[in-house]
Amino acid sequence: MKKKQRLFLSAAVATSLLLAAGCSSSSSGGSGGSGGKKGEAAVGATIYKFDDNFMSYVRRAMETEAKGKVNLMLNDSQNDQAKQTEQVDTLIAKGAKSLAVNLVDPKAAPTIIDKAKAKNLPVIFFNKEPDETAMKSYDKAYYVGTTSSESGVIQGGLIAKAWEANKAKWDKNGDGKIQYVLLKGEPGHPDAEARTKYAVDTVKQKGIDVEQLAMDTAMWDATKATEKMDAWISKYNDKIELVIANNDGMALGAISALEKAGYFKGDKFMPVVGVDAIPEALEMIEKGKMIGTVLNDAKNQGKATVDLAANAAKGKDVLDGTDWKLDDKKAVRVPYVEITKDNIQVGKDAYK
Ligand code: BGC
Ligand code: CA
Repeated sequence: MKKKQRLFLSAAVATSLLLAAGCSSSSSGGSGGSGGKKGEAAVGATIYKFDDNFMSYVRRAMETEAKGKVNLMLNDSQNDQAKQTEQVDTLIAKGAKSLAVNLVDPKAAPTIIDKAKAKNLPVIFFNKEPDETAMKSYDKAYYVGTTSSESGVIQGGLIAKAWEANKAKWDKNGDGKIQYVLLKGEPGHPDAEARTKYAVDTVKQKGIDVEQLAMDTAMWDATKATEKMDAWISKYNDKIELVIANNDGMALGAISALEKAGYFKGDKFMPVVGVDAIPEALEMIEKGKMIGTVLNDAKNQGKATVDLAANAAKGKDVLDGTDWKLDDKKAVRVPYVEITKDNIQVGKDAYK
């Protein structure tokens, strides 16, 4: 009796240790991902890291969508590609009928495709778009995300409009140019590269001169962004006229640094702009600490990912019974939307 109890306990401890390490799969149906609830096809899914502001909303949408539909075995890859590749092996061994993969490293797509191909499993990549060659190498590879450049174009348009309306105040040195700093997402991430390029290009195309004071990656991360911004404030202080962030997480990090330096009190103001429209950023827009953002629709991207993966797992056409459309790159692209104080409800509704 005693021995049995001890055995039971140690099994329970082992399970919770596994869960804590993030290397066990969890299923939205609560079945522990051990091959699926009865009658539910299993989808093997990985998110590059759970500890990412935006991805936590995508994850929530995936879990909601999966309920009662499919056994979603969802893994935290903890920003480690080797770990993710192993997780994919395990998911396949556990009987996943399709894969939904948010790559850690976008360049690892061929490795994942090889594994899927070997078992004839459809794979739906999401959020980090693999390059075209990889996508073309497997007819059962799909992508769910956005058109990366669109977010940059919208962000640049938003900056140009706001600058034109406020330049009397915002052009602190009166030279007609925007002296900006830019917080970049992860280098090599299609969204980070495209947002950086198209935001600045669009401002220039609108006929506004710009001067880059500083640009560096803060890896999508608020804490890292605060560190960068602290350093830029002490180096350039009020030479900075605009903060462009590739995502809201980093915009929020920059705002913390700016607040410490006395901004957003009295006359001291700094225009800050981001991408995502996460609820914390919408709050900042309402408080007047951010001029705007670009909605990156986490809910619909999470939903589309599970819709396609669930269909694939059931052997159906990936679009079966949905309104999603595939483009010529086998991608579902959810549109971005400009968000300012004027249409803030659009952002709120998307993240409800
Ligand atoms: C989002 C970022 C997020 C990244 C993760 C981007 O689309 O805008 O907030 O960190 O995806 O891959
Ligand atoms: Ca200026």
